[in-house]
Amino acid sequence: MPAQITPNQLVQLIIPGITAVFSLGFACAWIYDRRLRYLRFLAASFVAFALGSAVQICHLPDEWRLNALISATFYVSSIQLLAEGVLRRAGLHLRLATHAAMFALVLGGMYYFSFVTSNLLVRVYILNFSAGALMMLTALRFRKHCNGRTVNRVLLWALLIFGASFFIRTPLTTLRSLPHSAGPFGQTLFWVLLQLSLALMGAVLGLVLLAAAMSDVIDRLTLERDLDPLTETFNRRAFERLARRCVADKQSYPLALIAFDIDKFKSINDRYGHAAGDAVLRQFAAILRTAVHEKDVVARIGGEEFVLLLLRVDDKFAYQIAERLRTVLESTRFDQIDATLCVTTSAGIARYRPGEPVAELLARADHLLYAAKRAGRNRVVTEPSVQTRDTSELDIV
Ligand code: GH3
Ligand code: MG
Ligand code: MG
Repeated sequence: MPAQITPNQLVQLIIPGITAVFSLGFACAWIYDRRLRYLRFLAASFVAFALGSAVQICHLPDEWRLNALISATFYVSSIQLLAEGVLRRAGLHLRLATHAAMFALVLGGMYYFSFVTSNLLVRVYILNFSAGALMMLTALRFRKHCNGRTVNRVLLWALLIFGASFFIRTPLTTLRSLPHSAGPFGQTLFWVLLQLSLALMGAVLGLVLLAAAMSDVIDRLTLERDLDPLTETFNRRAFERLARRCVADKQSYPLALIAFDIDKFKSINDRYGHAAGDAVLRQFAAILRTAVHEKDVVARIGGEEFVLLLLRVDDKFAYQIAERLRTVLESTRFDQIDATLCVTTSAGIARYRPGEPVAELLARADHLLYAAKRAGRNRVVTEPSVQTRDTSELDIV
C-alpha cells in the first residue's frame, strides 16, 4: 500500500471522480424509469471504469503485477458493460459466450505479460485494441438501429470516434522509447496525457449517452401522456396534435378521416359486464392497428369511438379500408365472452379539404358516422361522390 496519496495522484483522481458522477446520473435515470433497463449496464460500466482508474492511480495494491491485473479486470468489464448497455438500448445484445471469451483472452494475456514475462507495451496493446475492437463492433451493430434520430446518430459517431481513438492512441506508445515497467511509465507526462485523452473521450461519450437516456425518458413520458392505457392507441389530445401536424404537411395529401363508433356497445357492457366491454375495445383497437401504415394515426377519441387518419389515400382506398375493418369486426368471434356475440361498427369518412381546421374535419366525419347510425348501423357512409361505389369490388378479408 502507498504511504499516502501524492498531490499528482489527487489531480488524477478527478478522472474516476467524473466517471463516478456519470454512473450516478445513469443510476438516477434508471431509478426514475426502471423499464429502461439498459441504464443499469451503463451505470455499472462507468463505476467499473472509475474503480479501474482509481486502483491504477492509487497503486492499490502496490505490487504492480497484481495492480495491472485488477485494473485490467475493471477496464475490460467496463468496456463490455458499455457495449452491452448501448446494444440493449437498441434491443440487441452480445452473447454471454462472446463476453466470456473476450474477458478470458484479455485477462489471460494480461496475466501472461505481467507474471510470466513482463511486457508493458503488449499489455497496453491488448487492453486498448480489445476495447477499440469491441466499441467498433458495437457501433456497427448499433448503426442499423439508429432509426434516423439525431441523438442516435450523434451516439453512433461518438462510439466510432471513441472506438477509433483506442487504435490511434495506442500506436503512439511505440513512437517513444518508454520505460518497460509500470512504475516509471505511470510517472511520465505521456501516460498522464494518454489517460486524460481517454477520460476526455469517455466524458464526451458519457454526455452523449446521458443525453440519449434523457431523450428516452422524455419519449416514454410523452408516450404515456399520448396513449390511451386501455387500447394503447393515441388519445384525443394526441390525435388532435398529430392530425394538425399531418394537415400542415402537404406531402401527406390526400388525407381521409374515418370515424368509427361501435354499435350498441352499451348493451355489451350491460349484458356481459364492463371487463368484457373493455376486451371488445382492445380487440377493435388491435384490428384498427392492422390497417395503418407507420405514419397513419389511430386514436380512441371517446368511450367506444375511434378515428383513423389515413395519409396519401384516395377516396376509394379509404372506403375500402373502412369497409374491410367493418367486416373484420363483424366476423370476429369473442369466444372468451360469448361465442355467439357479434360486434359491429358504423363509420363515417370525410376527405380533408385543404385549409380546414382539424375540428371541422372531425365534425364532418362524425356527421357521416351518425348518418350511418340512422341508416341502420353496421355500415360505412362517405361523402356523396364515393358513396355510390359498388362494394362488390372490395377486397374484403
Ligand atoms: P350506438 O349504436 O348508438 O352507438 O349505441 P351505443 O350503446 O354504442 O352508444 P352509447 O353512447 O349509448 O354507449 C356507449 C357506452 O360505452 C356507454 C359507456 O358506458 C360505454 N363506455 C365508455 N367508455 C368505456 C370503457 O372504457 N369501457 C367500457 N367497457 N365501456 C365504456
Ligand atoms: Mg356506440
Ligand atoms: Mg358513442
